[in-house]
Amino acid sequence: MEMNGFLKEKGLDPSYLQTFEKLAALTLEWNGKINVTAIREPSEFMHKNIVDSLALLGAPELEKAGAVLDMGTGGGFPGLPLAAACPEKSFVLTDAIGKKLKVVDDVAAQLGLSNVRTVHSRAEDLGHMPEYREQFDLVVSRAVADLSVLAEYCLPLVKQGGCFIAYKTDAAAEETEAAKPAIGKLGGRLADIRPDGIEGSGHVFVVIEKRSATPKTYPRKAGTPSKKPLR
Ligand code: SAM
Repeated sequence: MEMNGFLKEKGLDPSYLQTFEKLAALTLEWNGKINVTAIREPSEFMHKNIVDSLALLGAPELEKAGAVLDMGTGGGFPGLPLAAACPEKSFVLTDAIGKKLKVVDDVAAQLGLSNVRTVHSRAEDLGHMPEYREQFDLVVSRAVADLSVLAEYCLPLVKQGGCFIAYKTDAAAEETEAAKPAIGKLGGRLADIRPDGIEGSGHVFVVIEKRSATPKTYPRKAGTPSKKPLR
């Protein structure tokens, strides 16, 4: 993937290359102290973490969103690259592991990203907090859980009329089919499975619309969604 061509395709100024190189360098530096990514080589990092995260740029669901949440952001993916590319939108990056969020806070501060806030919580707790429940136009998530589990983590946080987009591989068709009843119980509807547009990536976006309010019983208590996925 040639970065300048990619940035142009996504409508980003060439100066963003420096921003993303800095993001990569800072994260990789932290990675020596705290394990936030398995990818240690800078060009692979650029491709698998940054380009992969930015693939969502241009999606109508992102374009029209004002408030975005990244569930299980880990070291900040896809949330940090998206926040850097979309300074006019506000981003909440959340994870159950606080030390990873310290890395995200430091990288966001060093990049001067004033539109990023981190929240240390399990999804099952966050989904019941009035400050976060049904407050986001768009919730995104990459590499966190099977779709029926992930839907229970993410859909309670989406506003009615908003959207949840899971970054998945194109092997996710079966997983998506199996998650349909769970998605329905949570007030969602599968709208699309869309290739991410990066040649040869084998990645797709699973797009789920929020049609109606999520029943108050969801998310269930911490640990239950993954132990007993909704069917
Ligand atoms: N999204 C990042 C990425 O793609 O690089 C990190 C992926 S990492 C494999 C999965 C992350 O999900 C971990 O940081 C983990 O702490 C978080 N996670 C898993 N279950 C969670 C839950 N119930 N609530 C909040 N975070 C959770």
